[in-house]
Amino acid sequence: MAIGSKLPHVGTTIFTVMSRMASEEGAINLSQGFPGFGADPVLLELVGKYTRDGYNQYPPMSGIPQLRRRLAEKTELTQIYFPDPETEVTIVSGATEALFSAVTAVVRPGDEVVLLEPAYDSYEPAVTLNGGVPVYVPLNAEDFSVDWERVEKALSPKTRLIMVNSPHNPSGYVWTEEDIDSLATLVRDRDIYLVSDEVYEHITFDGRKHISLGSHPELRNKTFVCGSFGKTFHVTGWKIGYCIAPSDMTVEFRKIHQFLTFTTVTPIQYALAEYLEEPNRYLSIPAFYQSKRDLFAGGLTRTGLIFTPARGSFFQLASYGHLSQIGDRELAERMTRRLKVACIPVSVFYSDRRDDKFIRFCFAKEEAELFEALERLQGLPEIL
Ligand code: PMP
Ligand code: GLN
Repeated sequence: MAIGSKLPHVGTTIFTVMSRMASEEGAINLSQGFPGFGADPVLLELVGKYTRDGYNQYPPMSGIPQLRRRLAEKTELTQIYFPDPETEVTIVSGATEALFSAVTAVVRPGDEVVLLEPAYDSYEPAVTLNGGVPVYVPLNAEDFSVDWERVEKALSPKTRLIMVNSPHNPSGYVWTEEDIDSLATLVRDRDIYLVSDEVYEHITFDGRKHISLGSHPELRNKTFVCGSFGKTFHVTGWKIGYCIAPSDMTVEFRKIHQFLTFTTVTPIQYALAEYLEEPNRYLSIPAFYQSKRDLFAGGLTRTGLIFTPARGSFFQLASYGHLSQIGDRELAERMTRRLKVACIPVSVFYSDRRDDKFIRFCFAKEEAELFEALERLQGLPEIL
């Protein structure tokens, strides 16, 4: 009996493929995005404490009240609005679940969903599995900002949803106030929802501030804001995230969450609620990552690659088209096998696998590892 795949075009994600190759080759893994350092021991200790104290059974479906409240307070402090913890905040098992549940809550068969490319790989399958039709709009080639005219041209009466991601993976672009205003103008008087992937909300550079779509009074009424504690507190394996959305949208969101995972790991929710009492624990993150971005971007200037220092996220994009025309997958493989530094070929973030000769590095690593990787990348001319 053949299963008749619902996702015939989907294989193993590039993040898994490159991480596996990095491990086989003993390469420094700057491919898949995850921190190469541990979390704050205080947070680890809190998880230990809550597991030992018996917080190990199902929590409330929408998340424990303490954590929802802390998250609302964090949102008020950083984004100047206070979502109702009871009706507008839901704790889920990672941003991937938040994105999937939000898309599932609104997309019906035949609905069109605008995806800005390059796009994170989980968006399209979420749309397709719900019978939605992805409509792709490329970001501007120079800096990966949004081409608002192209977005407008892509809209139709069938457009149900626009997926947004800032700080952006893979480009590191951070939306400006003008971007947010342009989006607000575009969706005004249109029945279009927004899913805003803000997992890198606390990783911005050079004094830039992340502006959540939730902070815009008009957009807030149409947006599912999706976040990830894994990204913010260097614990990607914990798979815990959240969704903030208006109460009517949250009702529908929770119906999906309820039957997708039902609840999210209890002791970690208690630990995070206590940990979030001290705002400096997230307010200090930009400075922490800024020194890594500066170190990595500084070293990259000696490799011959061309790049604009990332404005946000923990990814640095670099282009090599002026040095060689080999495919980006081929280059990523050669770098991993011969230079022993793994990266991600950016063509995988495009639906048509368009290859503009960009590779992506994750610089969420210890300084010594970044120095070593930069040293090895000096050998780039030998493999091109
Ligand atoms: N969105 C983006 C842009 C990401 O880079 C990631 C990476 N992990 C996710 C969502 C998923 O987050 P989580 O691990 O919390 O599911
Ligand atoms: N978000 C991570 C990245 O972009 C990977 C997460 C995953 O492996 N799915 O590298």
